[in-house]
Amino acid sequence: PVPVSRTDGDVYEVSRHDGFIRVEYTLFANHPDGTYAGIDPSSIHLNAPATFLWLKGADKAPIDVKFNLPSGKAWTIATQLKAGADSTLFTARDLQYLMDSPISIGELHWEQWSQVNPDKKTYNFRLALEATGGDSSVKKFAKNLSRITGQAQAVFGELPAFDYGTYTFLAGINPYVKGDGMEHRNSTVINIPMQFTGNSVPSVFAHEFFHCWNVERIRPKSLEPFNFEKSNMSEGLWIAEGFTQYYGALLMKRAGLTSEGDFMQQMAGLINAKENTPGGTDYTPVENSQRAVFVDAGVAVDQTNYPNMFTSYYTYGGALALALDLRLRKEFNKSLDGFMQQLWKVFGKPEKAYTLPEVQQVLAAYASPGFASAFFKQHVYGHEPIDYKALLQAAGYDLKKNSRGEGWMGNVRYAQDTTQVVVAGGTIRNTPLYKAGVDVDDVIVALDGTTVRQPKDMSAVLAKHKAGDIIRIAYKHRGELVEKDLTL
Ligand SMILES: [Zn+2]
Repeated sequence: PVPVSRTDGDVYEVSRHDGFIRVEYTLFANHPDGTYAGIDPSSIHLNAPATFLWLKGADKAPIDVKFNLPSGKAWTIATQLKAGADSTLFTARDLQYLMDSPISIGELHWEQWSQVNPDKKTYNFRLALEATGGDSSVKKFAKNLSRITGQAQAVFGELPAFDYGTYTFLAGINPYVKGDGMEHRNSTVINIPMQFTGNSVPSVFAHEFFHCWNVERIRPKSLEPFNFEKSNMSEGLWIAEGFTQYYGALLMKRAGLTSEGDFMQQMAGLINAKENTPGGTDYTPVENSQRAVFVDAGVAVDQTNYPNMFTSYYTYGGALALALDLRLRKEFNKSLDGFMQQLWKVFGKPEKAYTLPEVQQVLAAYASPGFASAFFKQHVYGHEPIDYKALLQAAGYDLKKNSRGEGWMGNVRYAQDTTQVVVAGGTIRNTPLYKAGVDVDDVIVALDGTTVRQPKDMSAVLAKHKAGDIIRIAYKHRGELVEKDLTL
């Protein structure tokens, strides 16, 4: 062996070698999902960044991957990597492609279908599913999935030119995987911890597939090239994830796989994210996108004030997509589909990464310069409210408040404690509790003169009141008793 020195937490240096070295390492892999790796006697899930050691400075070199599978198993390998001379050998054209290529190995059910582009090129779709279920239920599932891929193609008018002519769904639907979905250029990994029935296709399939246009090819410049050694901040995730979130729901509806009621329920969730959370009302989608490096799988143990300053760019961006779609329909007799087609033509198809000012230019050309500059100023670089009631009215829907005027103090988490009410999370800006000065770790002692020991005691008091009532609240802050008026 040659001496190996560790120069950083995840960087090793081999200084004395003759140009060829063989490295062996053991992979800790106990999380089969779309981000990490999971290796088990029953199946193998590999996401490349969580799996492969890589050679710094050799980013452009092609990489061969060879699997030595255990004998006696009816295993197959699913991946977007280029197939090699035998069924266990694959090639990535460079490091970025390897890192973008998840691998699923096991007793997989395979289904295939194809779709044709206007230029007559045929693209192959494969479902590689790890699930226990009969072939007929897998066939039914694939049939429904093909309705989604068909509807997505209809949005843009064509499929991307998938590398090697194929797009692969690497799916695990069984109780042993961890829930997650991750998009890639020519594939997606979707793991759902539940028993497979084949009766319904979860909407995450529509979401991840839409990404093969939006983010994989219609791509923010801030994500290019992806840096695997540090966090990659982007101001465009409200488009990349948010618009994809909106289309995930829309494709399910268009494919006939979700009801109108369920679809509108999801739209209500998006509107709530924009209109009824501090992250949506007080911060821009750009700011929320930039905070992504600290959320999702980027969390640390550090305390944060995120309930008061972060709203997911998925839902926030989805709410903007809904608003933009309704406004383009109402004011220009156009639609978000048409705008997405323009983004595809200008950025996606030629694979030219975008900046936000360039996206604004495309909107200016598609709608009008005045509309585009106002929309970006108010809702992209600003966080102005959106009149969803008026927009939905034009589409034949009525937006109503869910509340029936009952007493409410704010959504807050309480500690699991049966003897006293301890506030376990930060109170949310502009809610009654927040305005009364209640903060995390405070103990609520009494409401409206009634001693409270559990959250349900408070609910009983609130049930006797309605919105607008003023009641006394008594709470302990660092042991000091505080009494305040609280407006419900
Ligand atoms: Zn996504």
